[in-house]
Amino acid sequence: MFGGISVIVTPMPSIRNSLPLDIVWFFVMLGLHVKVRNSQKEPRMLKRTSAFVLFILIAATFVAAQDWRSGIPWKKPEVITPGAKPGDPPSDAIILFDGSDMSEWNREWSIENGELVCVPGRGSISTKRTFGSVQLHLEFATPAEVSGRGQGRGNSGVFFGPYEVQILDSYENETYPDGQCASIYKQVPPLVNASRPPGEWQTYSIIFNRPELKIEDGIVYVIRPGYFTVFHNGVLVVNRHQLLGSTLFNRPSVYEAHEPTLPIRLQDHGNKIRFRNIWVREIPDTNVRLEPTREPYFQQ
Ligand code: MG
Repeated sequence: MFGGISVIVTPMPSIRNSLPLDIVWFFVMLGLHVKVRNSQKEPRMLKRTSAFVLFILIAATFVAAQDWRSGIPWKKPEVITPGAKPGDPPSDAIILFDGSDMSEWNREWSIENGELVCVPGRGSISTKRTFGSVQLHLEFATPAEVSGRGQGRGNSGVFFGPYEVQILDSYENETYPDGQCASIYKQVPPLVNASRPPGEWQTYSIIFNRPELKIEDGIVYVIRPGYFTVFHNGVLVVNRHQLLGSTLFNRPSVYEAHEPTLPIRLQDHGNKIRFRNIWVREIPDTNVRLEPTREPYFQQ
């Protein structure tokens, strides 16, 4: 009996690729096998019915197991090496600051113990390279010694062209919600305040999808808006926010003409913010989807 069962069962797993389905299949086949054996002493009609049910089940299994393909000629994804631990740069990252030098930047801030420290009054620093859509990782710490309040306490910012993700000491520091740490400045507050206390290292993982703009006769047309997604200390705080335009201090956001790729900038807002482990990965513009080169089909 068990030899008979194994003949029925063994070809099936490679077709269904599903353990739960395999278990269901096994017990259905076991029941039918016993039923067919018992029916050898029963009327011929019952044997025929059992055989018919068995045929339908096998046919249904093959139909359900067909492997649908989209017909889109996807390229095999490039193999990269991820960082050894969370926050470490993967092999395809561009390192903007690793503790040793500022060769990727247009201006010098001070480097102290492998940390990049804002020099108040010297001005913001920008990358020499320009970027479009990116994944950016950086770590920052606001001054351990608290001074000032609101927007005057531990203020900096990371700018993708004219679009700012706010950096601020927002640990028990009141300010307007769309200006606190991890806000998209003057556009949307973070979903939660995930700030660590002053002086502690914090992380940003930011996904920036650049807008596509067209300028005709001095008028800016938005072909595709920009988007931000932000993780602050590993917590999702901005979930695909659709940019309303440049993040401006003294007037409503509006899209302004700019090049498709722009420098990334760290803001000098008068506070000694420290930075480390800054890297970036260039990514395709949002939701790029290839056209199928053939009709969808079933792979046999
Ligand atoms: Mg700022």
